[in-house]
Amino acid sequence: MRSTAKARTMMLAAMLASLASSAAAKMPFRTEGQFTPGGLVTVTLPPGARDFRVNGQAVPEASPGVHLIGFGRDETGTVRLSARASDGSLLATEVPLAPRRFNIQRLPALGVTDTPPPEWVKRREVEIAKTLAAKREAAVRTGDSVGWREPFRLPVSGRITGVYGSQRIFGTLPRNPHWGLDIAAPTGTLVRAPAAGIVRLADGPFLIEGNLVLLDHGAGLVSVYIHLDDIRVKAGDSLRAGDVIGTVGTTGRSTGPHLHWGLSLLRASAGEAPPTEVRLDPALHLARGR
Ligand SMILES: [Zn+2]
Repeated sequence: MRSTAKARTMMLAAMLASLASSAAAKMPFRTEGQFTPGGLVTVTLPPGARDFRVNGQAVPEASPGVHLIGFGRDETGTVRLSARASDGSLLATEVPLAPRRFNIQRLPALGVTDTPPPEWVKRREVEIAKTLAAKREAAVRTGDSVGWREPFRLPVSGRITGVYGSQRIFGTLPRNPHWGLDIAAPTGTLVRAPAAGIVRLADGPFLIEGNLVLLDHGAGLVSVYIHLDDIRVKAGDSLRAGDVIGTVGTTGRSTGPHLHWGLSLLRASAGEAPPTEVRLDPALHLARGR
């Protein structure tokens, strides 16, 4: 009896100690951003720490001791962050993702059938290959820009007409979720870089995107500007925040003049495989108070 009581006391003490230590080690990392679907978080390790992992998977560095992590639209539950401290001890914490709900948008049918003609498919394959090549370049050349460190601003001011994560149903055809922010503005309104970046793609009109620009902000973070009327940059251009990319338009598959602004976090894959892409919510990544 006595030894059982003692064992219980010891177990309780151990539990309390473990609770206290988990509370003390609650957030061994400095984080900036939102732990929620579509969120982008910058994680800074304590000095000398290394081997940062998310759910056991190694994450490349954006800069020494700093990592970017992103959460997809349909991610739920808890993420485990870990690293090795300079003395070799384990630093770990678990962060629950704040749940989000997304809307379903019903829009008029756009006359697109499920079986597009072969010439459409052929042209589309070329467009997808161009986009993938640009994304692969951004995923590999992660040190070309440090725009990812900058606070992002809206590329154009206007009325928000579409949000990230909503699912559109054109007539009766459900589409992919809406991967970005739609900002309505008159045709010709200037679209500006939200942060510094390298232009990886400036092309069009593509069948769906119309005239588009893909900007590489470094560390695998890219943004896209779709349905542009006019493109004012070319691939390889280095832009600063506020530089003009092009103008608002309604090229490609679009129902009126607006900018579709998308944001993604890319990771290079081995060999010829396309980079992995986590589509983020640009609205969550805007500098607060701007
Ligand atoms: Zn859109």
